[in-house]
Amino acid sequence: MKSTLHIRGPFGPFDDPLLYLRFYYTGRAILFDLGELDGFAPRDLLRITDVFVSHAHMDHFAGLEKLLRLHLHRTPILNIYGPDQFLDRLEGRLSGFTWNLTHGYPLIIAGYETDGRVLRKASFSADQGFRRRNLDVRPWKGTLLNEKAFRVTGEILDHGTWCLGFRFEEKFKVNINTGELKKLGLLPGPWLTGFKDAILRGEPPLKRIKARGTAGPVELTLADLDGIYHRTRGHVIAYVVDAADTPGNEKKILNLAKNADLLYIEAAFSIRDGELAEQRNHLTAQRAGQLASQAGAARTRLIHLSPRYQGFESHLVDEARDGAAGKVRVEAGWKETKI
Ligand SMILES: [Zn+2]
Repeated sequence: MKSTLHIRGPFGPFDDPLLYLRFYYTGRAILFDLGELDGFAPRDLLRITDVFVSHAHMDHFAGLEKLLRLHLHRTPILNIYGPDQFLDRLEGRLSGFTWNLTHGYPLIIAGYETDGRVLRKASFSADQGFRRRNLDVRPWKGTLLNEKAFRVTGEILDHGTWCLGFRFEEKFKVNINTGELKKLGLLPGPWLTGFKDAILRGEPPLKRIKARGTAGPVELTLADLDGIYHRTRGHVIAYVVDAADTPGNEKKILNLAKNADLLYIEAAFSIRDGELAEQRNHLTAQRAGQLASQAGAARTRLIHLSPRYQGFESHLVDEARDGAAGKVRVEAGWKETKI
């Protein structure tokens, strides 16, 4: 299955946790957690349209200003989601600057928070000095963002405070039937990228596509091309950070990571420091491995290791492998990846 996503986690095991997903077809990106963003090129940060913040501890939310500075002059809407009381945190951060010169700037931040029952929305417009405007309150059943090509859902985990865990699901993948392509007198080529993109964006059937035919370029509608592709299961990626090891959290984490192709999960402490993990409402590496295995994840990457284990990160990876009991590929790398 060809990858449609560029995936980047934190740059190292001790860095602030985050997950950056860029869609190859549209160039757009979404971000999970907003800690230190050093290491990202401005052009990559400018692709971000939606940010999902697990909770407002500094290591998950300190990068807001960097993102804001880049988007301030260029972006019309930036959506930011977080757990209960997140809108107060966002408002507090935005009110920490003077905005008398931003009249006419395009940026509107659409902020969302959920307490597990409702989703509250507020907007903060650069033109109005980022003054908070409370908008609607809707019942919430777990979905944060639902688009034609993918959805993001969340669960509220207990970390001594609320912490959102996330599940990203592509709704489908577009696979080309080369036999049908031939029958229509068409040749494969870069035009298929534009075709797939149009399907993923949910363009209407009369949308015209420039295709490559055996007799030269030809323009066809999506309806004409209906037979050249079929849909298959899309990828699932889960992102779980900062959660106490409780039965309630276990159930929710398993829900988030169920049959995931890739699970990013915190492994803050070694099992040897299990007591500390309990006090700080974090998981151990072994537990992270167990949860990945129980959830039926195919691959997992450990993130958010405590800096006390600098130089010993491979021990934590080993502990997670013990926990996973050979049922999940526990990856020791922190570089960008594909699924
Ligand atoms: Zn935390």
